[in-house]
Amino acid sequence: MPLFSKLPDVGITIFTVMSKLAADHGAINLSQGFPDFEAPAELIEQVSHYMRQGHNQYAPMQGVPLLRRRIAEKVALLYGARIDPESDITVTSGATEALYAAISAVVRPGDEVIVVEPAYDSYVPAIQLNGGVPVFIPLRFPGYGLDWDRLKDHLNERTRLIILNSPHNPTGTVLAADDLAALREITAGRDLFILSDEVYEHILFDGREHQILLRYPDLARKSFVVSSFGKTYHATGWKIGYCVAPPELSLEFRKIHQFLTFTSNTPIQMALADFMAHTGHYQELAGFYQRKRDLFLDLMKDSRFKPLPCAGTYFQMMDYAAITDEPDETFARRLTTQYGVAAIPPSVFHHDRRDQRVLRFCFAKQDQTLIQAAERLCRI
Ligand code: GLN
Repeated sequence: MPLFSKLPDVGITIFTVMSKLAADHGAINLSQGFPDFEAPAELIEQVSHYMRQGHNQYAPMQGVPLLRRRIAEKVALLYGARIDPESDITVTSGATEALYAAISAVVRPGDEVIVVEPAYDSYVPAIQLNGGVPVFIPLRFPGYGLDWDRLKDHLNERTRLIILNSPHNPTGTVLAADDLAALREITAGRDLFILSDEVYEHILFDGREHQILLRYPDLARKSFVVSSFGKTYHATGWKIGYCVAPPELSLEFRKIHQFLTFTSNTPIQMALADFMAHTGHYQELAGFYQRKRDLFLDLMKDSRFKPLPCAGTYFQMMDYAAITDEPDETFARRLTTQYGVAAIPPSVFHHDRRDQRVLRFCFAKQDQTLIQAAERLCRI
């Protein structure tokens, strides 16, 4: 029987490709976004504690109740928004699952979905698998601001969902209060939903404040807000995330979640619930990563790479036009195999493979790793 691919244009994700290339060539891996240092020892200890205590069976489908309560407390503490842990929060197997479930919950065949580019690579396949049509809005290069007039011009009666991501992967741009004001204005009175990917919500620099959509009741009413514990607790391999949405949206979300994974890892949820009581961890994360960003920028200041502004996330975009004219995918490969440093070519996050002679470097690394990588990059 002939096999018709449902995703004919999709290959293996760039993160898997570049991490394998880095491993094969013994390169320093600044490509895929993950820390090369440990999650807090106390958190790891709590996971094994709960395993030893026998918490090894299914958690409730919506997530461990105490963890959902802690999430609601955090949202109230940091952002002043009140959400109901029973009806509004669902714990998922990473933000990836939450994004897929949210898109599947609302996108019907023929629906249009606004996707801001460069876009994290899981959005478009999820839209397409649900029969939706992505409508692409590019961020302005090189400042990566969002052109709200342009976005507004692309809204019509078929628009079902707008996907936003702040702090933004891969550019490090961050939505400010006036962006949210623009979003509120253009979505007022429209019959559409918003999916806000906020996995880097605690990693904003230079005193910026995260503009969570939940601050605004008019936006919260029509939004899925997605976050991930992987980024916040230096444990990307644990794959625990969550989605906050009003009851009627959460109901539809859970119909999908319960048949994607049903539920997520029990002892890790319980350990995270305990550890979230240390509010200092997420409140100090921005300072922790700002020091790493500044170290990396300082180490790179005599290189021929030119940094673009980075207001959040643990990614630094670098313009390499002074070094070579090669397309970013070619240069990213050569950088890995010849110079021993792996980076991500952001053209893969554009539907038209738009190439801006920029590479994305992950600085969620030990200082020693950044020092070694910068030494190699400064030789080019
Ligand atoms: N979000 C991470 C990054 O952007 C990687 C996630 C993944 O490997 N799927 O690098």
